[in-house]
Amino acid sequence: MKKISIFWFRRDLRIEDNHGLFAALNESEQVLPLFIFDRNILDKLENKADARVEFIHEHVTRLHHELEKKGSSILVKYGEPEAVYKELMSEYDIQAVFTNRDYEPYAKSRDEKIKKILEEKEIPFHCYKDQVIFEPGEILNGSGEFYKVFTPFSKVWLDKFNASEVPDYQPMQWKNLLETSAFELPSLEDIGFTKTEISTPPKTADEDTIAHYDQTRDFPAKNGTSRLGIHLRFGTISIRKLALRASELNATFLNELIWREFYMMILAYTPEVVDKAFKPAYDQIPWRNNEEEFEAWCQGKTGYPIVDAGMRELNQTGYMHNRVRMVVASFLTKHLLIDWRWGEAYFAEKLLDYELASNNGGWQWAAGTGTDAQPYFRVFNPSSQQEKFDKNWKYIKKWIPEINSDKYPKPIVDHKFARQRAIDTYKSALN
Ligand code: FAD
Repeated sequence: MKKISIFWFRRDLRIEDNHGLFAALNESEQVLPLFIFDRNILDKLENKADARVEFIHEHVTRLHHELEKKGSSILVKYGEPEAVYKELMSEYDIQAVFTNRDYEPYAKSRDEKIKKILEEKEIPFHCYKDQVIFEPGEILNGSGEFYKVFTPFSKVWLDKFNASEVPDYQPMQWKNLLETSAFELPSLEDIGFTKTEISTPPKTADEDTIAHYDQTRDFPAKNGTSRLGIHLRFGTISIRKLALRASELNATFLNELIWREFYMMILAYTPEVVDKAFKPAYDQIPWRNNEEEFEAWCQGKTGYPIVDAGMRELNQTGYMHNRVRMVVASFLTKHLLIDWRWGEAYFAEKLLDYELASNNGGWQWAAGTGTDAQPYFRVFNPSSQQEKFDKNWKYIKKWIPEINSDKYPKPIVDHKFARQRAIDTYKSALN
């Protein structure tokens, strides 16, 4: 049997500045790159035209070409990781497996299982920090506990970032890749999926956008944010390079990258937030959960233009501007008193940049059930949000062509009434 080490790609679909790959190539000869289309994840996706799966497939294909140019290849499997590893162990004499750490609950339990299987044959499983600057456990308060509030977390994060050197995992020892002729790649159809009409944003954000981020980011009609979410999610760009660029160009942009790590840390320390309120008392709220109203919200037919524009942008492109995400989430949970978990699940199905930690954090923030200290009686007014952030109706007209006709629905609920109902409901549930 051939002696090899494996580098297992997951949320790090790039060969540049990849910590785990760097370690694998430095510490072993004959590194076989591997990617697994994980059936435990894919089988749960109901819609088989999923732009995220298409994105992953496209980027694995790119890796395939890049590695081919280096005289190697990438082995791409479709199945359950445990079964794939058992199969690989019968085909190769595996010396070690290298990979980058993932902090989501499913990923952690999957990795524990793989580690166990490997341990039975005394094969080491080496994991590295790659998708974050600071991982859960690295930013703690004076008593060694995790931060439950963003501002002090961000302060410590920044001090530590400024005081340390950000590593650069170059150059790679490419000569240590396993020399092999190209493996055959499964097609998108082979793994049960089809192409979509949705296009994904490029993996470079222009300098100007980042430099002026603090001034433009709140206006959905402007192209004022980076659109890098999906690239951060699947590691097609390096967070280290992006954070360094952000620190030179715009402090507000860097702050958003800190939010990303804050929510990853919250999820790692309190995995129960996946289906429970971060503040347990808020699980007492008697949600109305009216299905027709939920459907109107999903389709962008609530009669509140900023809410409807956002939902239609999401449905058509897989993206929604952050300011509008906050407005639609607040509207669903406060105005309609629909459980934040319903909205969270809808976003999870649609968002290209879907990330469990940030999505959960964003929804719990909007519902007032999360880490944020904002009192629940502050309810976003959709009309004043629109007045402030889309004064000329540019964003709204783009997504709701019938806005000025009688085809556009009347408001599903009166704002003043809904606001008071939300406050009363929260108040009595929390008393
Ligand atoms: P930019 O504004 O250019 O920011 C750069 C990067 O910083 C983002 O790509 C993201 O990785 C990170 N970031 C920015 N804002 C936040 C934030 N508030 N929290 C955490 N990270 C942030 N973000 C996701 O990545 N995935 C989600 O599933 C997600 N769901 C959300 C749900 C709700 C209800 C809300 C209010 C926010 C959600 N966010 C989520 C955060 C934010 O809206 C998106 O990260 C952002 O809009 C993505 O666009 P962008 O790539 O242009 O980001």
